Amino acid sequence: MDKCEGINKISVVIPVFNEQESLPQLLERTAGACAGLNLAYEIILVDDGSDDDSASLITQAAATPQSHVVAVILNRNYGQHAAVMAGLSQAEGDLIITMDADLQNPPEEIPRLVDVAKEGYDVVGTVRENRQDSWFRRVCSYLINRMIQRATGKAMSDYGCMLRAYRRHIVEAMLLCRERSTFIPILANSFARHSQEIKVTHAPREFGYSKYSLFKLINLMFDLVTCLTTAPLRLLNLLGCLVACFGFLLAFTIVVLRFLLGPEWAAEGVFMLFAILFIFIGAQFVGLGLLGEYIGRIYTDVRARPRYFIQEIIGKPMVENKWSD
Ligand code: UDP
Ligand code: MG
Repeated sequence: MDKCEGINKISVVIPVFNEQESLPQLLERTAGACAGLNLAYEIILVDDGSDDDSASLITQAAATPQSHVVAVILNRNYGQHAAVMAGLSQAEGDLIITMDADLQNPPEEIPRLVDVAKEGYDVVGTVRENRQDSWFRRVCSYLINRMIQRATGKAMSDYGCMLRAYRRHIVEAMLLCRERSTFIPILANSFARHSQEIKVTHAPREFGYSKYSLFKLINLMFDLVTCLTTAPLRLLNLLGCLVACFGFLLAFTIVVLRFLLGPEWAAEGVFMLFAILFIFIGAQFVGLGLLGEYIGRIYTDVRARPRYFIQEIIGKPMVENKWSD
């Protein structure tokens, strides 16, 4: 793998939703971790429509002379991933690091992420060691991570941890995707050539409470699945075929038994009705699956993700449009 150092500036992007208690410590610790890197840096705090004092704290921090803080204030709450996207759109760094504002991801891990990225990785993911969340969240995460690994074949093991580093070209590719609901670690991976994962520590939430209610978590899971694949729509086809085959088999068995055991056996045709029912239910699912195939393709087109993204051209200057719409 080529060594592609070329990191002169880093941007740390942090979404903030009602985190006024942790902000002072967050700013201090993040600035401390970045200052030790001997690189230019900016800390982009995106206020995602907080009702508390978060927005004014962020604005104050950004207004301080010599501050490295950039405040991005959204007009209402759009959700964590949309807020991170807003931050990414303002980031100027060659390496962009995302993390949470609640200090569950220790900012002191940032230098390790930068070191690994410098080895030539496009995306550096993290695995939370000793994860400090409820057992329910841990079990759900485990199942979802296994599903993603199976679907993508990529062996990253903790997609839920937002402490991650992305090279500039990955962020540019993500910003070109026009889908509304997205799951950033998965989207980034779809553009990454070399990715790496490191273990990081995880702290319990010290202030406030998780901003993810059960409903928001379910919503997030659907964002994740739809960002990844349209395969669930295709499953309808498979289910339909299975049910219809079962119906055919049942009908065949009933006819054979009818001849072997006589007319009174088949309960006046009631079993046959069941068999026919199964065949029709199966056919309906196949029809739905077919609709799903069309919807899946429409969805892919509507998202308008770039078909490819040229990172570099050697031998001639790159023309402006380096992606394909
Ligand atoms: N967050 C956000 N908008 C939301 C929900 C969360 O910007 O609608 C931010 C939140 O302030 C935090 C990060 O996303 O910085 C992760 O949220 P949280 O810690 O509540 O999630 P959990 O750790 O429970 O997964
Ligand atoms: Mg948290």
